[in-house]
Amino acid sequence: MRYQESIEESVAFVRQVMPLMARHSAPMNPISFAVWYEYVSGVNPRLKEAIDTALKDKIVLDAAATELLYRRFVADLDADSANRLALDFHRIMADAVQSAAYTGTQADSYGSSLQQFSKELDADAAVPATLDAIDRVLIETLQMQTSMVALGKRLEDSHKEIESLRAEVVRVRQDAMVDGLTGLANRRSFDLDMDNWLGQFVPGVPGPSVLMIDIDYFKKVNDTYGHLFGDKVIRTVAEVLKRNVKGQDIAARYGGEEFAVLLPKTQLEGARALAENIRVAVAGCRIRRHDNEELVGHITVSLGVACYLKGESAQNFIGRADKALYASKTQGRNRVTAHGIDPMP
Ligand code: GH3
Ligand code: MG
Ligand code: MG
Repeated sequence: MRYQESIEESVAFVRQVMPLMARHSAPMNPISFAVWYEYVSGVNPRLKEAIDTALKDKIVLDAAATELLYRRFVADLDADSANRLALDFHRIMADAVQSAAYTGTQADSYGSSLQQFSKELDADAAVPATLDAIDRVLIETLQMQTSMVALGKRLEDSHKEIESLRAEVVRVRQDAMVDGLTGLANRRSFDLDMDNWLGQFVPGVPGPSVLMIDIDYFKKVNDTYGHLFGDKVIRTVAEVLKRNVKGQDIAARYGGEEFAVLLPKTQLEGARALAENIRVAVAGCRIRRHDNEELVGHITVSLGVACYLKGESAQNFIGRADKALYASKTQGRNRVTAHGIDPMP
């Protein structure tokens, strides 16, 4: 018998044959299957040499060229060897029958023709009938390959579409959470974060604390220097917050010229110290006017601080910080007031 390789080896050869046939515009018929099988298995050195030379010379191995190779180097295939080829191919196809069940309607029809083929491939069958069956199944395989490629392309397209949709959703969601003027979190985002942290409140662990911040005499700033400058002041205060609020702490623009800072794991004294740093940093800012070189100082903020008390609502918690802020205003502005006692001094 012409083929001495083990079953495993021949299965590996058949797997290499399929892509070679597809790549070389060889017709999907038993003649080219036999040619490429012998090429891959190395059983036919003269054929291998002829094919390698042809490939080096860039000769296209089309139907005519492949048939010529078959006649010259393979035609003397004995009946046993032909059956062996058919059986190897059968084994591969039987594997494919199992996996074809997963690939939809197209694959269903592929699977049934493979099953039909399996029945026909009986070891005692006459070689011509077997080769005929191989021919049919190769055509089916090619059709299956084509539809799988199309399916793959469609999947890739929808994957890309889903990716860009997801990016768009992320962008829109971010836009909905970010304040356009300052790039800080907006009030909606802040309220959600606050609910989230209060939901995780554990008694005995420091915090959370909150800072409410309001620019002093801002109406006057607008009236004196114009709204554009007013916007610049708001952005400047936001920059001070960004520099001072780090890690899991969250700074937000809470309203027109009001800001809020949530410190999820900080108690009252720590929050008061941060508030004081922010106050000093804002008071030290010099902001350039748009229309001339004049630097405007004297921009100040008032701050109120509160630390969460077990069981209170977010509204009550923020309300206490607001009360403290109001006290800072009435006592002369540019100052920090803490509300109540620290639950964990
Ligand atoms: P106080 O010290 O008591 O806080 O006085 P104030 O003048 O800062 O407070 P008031 O609430 O009377 O004025 C706030 C002003 O902030 C009124 C409003 O026109 C202005 N404002 C709110 N949002 C913006 C904004 O986005 N840009 C600008 N330029 N001004 C704004
Ligand atoms: Mg205000
Ligand atoms: Mg104000």
